[in-house]
Amino acid sequence: MNKNGMLVVISGFSGVGKGTAVKKLVEKYDYSLSVSATTRAPRPGEVDGVDYHFKTVEEFEQLIDYNGFIEWAQYVENYYGTPKKFVEDELSKGKNVILEIEVQGAMHIKEQYPDAVLIFITAPDAATLKERLFGRGTEDEKVIAKRLKRAYEETDDMSCYDYLVVNDDLDTCVDDIHSVICAENFKSSRNTDYMKNMKEELATIRSGM
Ligand code: ADP
Ligand code: 5GP
Repeated sequence: MNKNGMLVVISGFSGVGKGTAVKKLVEKYDYSLSVSATTRAPRPGEVDGVDYHFKTVEEFEQLIDYNGFIEWAQYVENYYGTPKKFVEDELSKGKNVILEIEVQGAMHIKEQYPDAVLIFITAPDAATLKERLFGRGTEDEKVIAKRLKRAYEETDDMSCYDYLVVNDDLDTCVDDIHSVICAENFKSSRNTDYMKNMKEELATIRSGM
C-alpha cells in the first residue's frame, strides 16, 4: 500500500499537551519528527538540537534569507521555523514526517503540500487548558495571558484542520493521532499506484489463462 512519505502537521493551543503527546507518539511509533528552529530561550531541561535548534534573531533571519525553511512564523514575540532539508530528505525516504507547528505555519504547509494531513490537538475544556498552562510553570502570568489570547484567536482556525483530537487521557490522545495517520494512509486517493499495479497484474494473469 502507500509507500510515499506523508507530512503530518500537529497544532494546538499553547499548553494543551501537544509537545508531550508528540514526544510519546514518536517514542511509540515509527515517525520522523522535525526539530524546529526558534529564537525563544530554552526552557529548563530543553536541549539544543533535540527540542529545538535555538538561534539568535540574526541567525534566524539569515536562514530565512537563505531559503532554509519550508515555513516560518512569528508567535508571541519569537520566530519559529521548520528547516527544509530534514523534511525533504525524510519524505524522499518514504517516512511519515511530523511537524509540531502553530496555525500560520500549518496554513503555509497546506498551500505548499496539499496532501499534508492537519491535526489540531485540543483540550476537554478551556479551564483544563488554563490549568495546564499554569501547571507547566514555564511562563509568567503576562506571557500566559498572551498565549491564552492567541488560543482564543486560534479557535477560529480549528475548522481549517482535517481532524480535531482531544488530549484528555494522554495515551488515548497518542493512539488517536496514530489512528488518524493510519486511516489517511489507507485512503484510496493515496494508493493510486497500488490500484494501477493490481490492475496490471490481473491483466497479466488473465492473459496467461
Ligand atoms: P504544549 O506543547 O501544547 O504547549 P506541553 O506538552 O508542554 O504543551 O504540556 C503542557 C502541560 O500539560 C505540561 O505540564 C504537561 O505535563 C501537561 N499535560 C500534557 N498532556 C496532559 C494530559 N493528557 N493530562 C494532564 N496533563 C497533561
Ligand atoms: P513553544 O514556545 O511553546 O515551544 O511553541 C510555541 C508555538 O510555536 C507552538 O504552537 C508550537 O507548535 C509552535 N512552533 C514550534 N515550532 C514551530 C515551527 O517550526 N513553525 C511554526 N510555524 N510554529 C512552530
